[in-house]
Amino acid sequence: MRVIGLIGGMSFESSAVYYRLVNEMVRERRGGLASAEVLLRSVNFEEIVALQKAGRWDDAAARLGDAALNLQIGGAGCVLICTNTMHLVAEEVAARISVLLIDIIDETARALKAAGRHRPLLLATRYTMEHGFYTDRMAELGIEVMVPGSDDRTVVHDVIFEELCAGRILDTSREKLVAIVERAKAAGADSVILGCTEICLILDPARLPLPGFDTTAIHARAAVDFSLGKQSVREMCGV
Ligand code: GLU
Repeated sequence: MRVIGLIGGMSFESSAVYYRLVNEMVRERRGGLASAEVLLRSVNFEEIVALQKAGRWDDAAARLGDAALNLQIGGAGCVLICTNTMHLVAEEVAARISVLLIDIIDETARALKAAGRHRPLLLATRYTMEHGFYTDRMAELGIEVMVPGSDDRTVVHDVIFEELCAGRILDTSREKLVAIVERAKAAGADSVILGCTEICLILDPARLPLPGFDTTAIHARAAVDFSLGKQSVREMCGV
């Protein structure tokens, strides 16, 4: 079993979900008391959020690159950035290490394609919905992502940072998110990307008006596939 390296803390609410998922998946596949071999490098989210707000993406890339290198030196066979947003600097982080960086966008695109879905709504932070790195990469992979309208983007972003990352799950916010999905369905979306690693804390992907793709679970599964021997998208494509 290869060691899974997690760059977590963004926020720790979702890192805890990753930790549980990779362990549960290994136990399911191996049986008995098997559990995942994991290294977690958890950062101070407040510092990362300050860099995001200031648009200091190079500094954020350097911080996460250091974290990735720590994991590699510690024995990780792959590295996961446990947040969609910080995939904005995934290339820079990948360049700092020689082990595989398992990319959440690529793995989510693969899951969508396997399910025959090509027009997903993206629920995510403002950075992920608006900076283009996510939608552009999805487009390269044949997925035409829909983003919510401006007011709805504010709602989703605020729910993520003011509630989910702070450990608050509110029914009223769940209703607002489901209403956004309903509107996207009426506008032609065929699925929903839970494109923030905390959204699974408030939305059950199986109980939405459209098929849901939970990036936290998809990413964790790719790590376990790699750890137990299967190839990732990047390895298969040689990219
Ligand atoms: N975990 C979130 C994501 O998947 C948001 C936190 C962050 O800004 O990294 O995008």
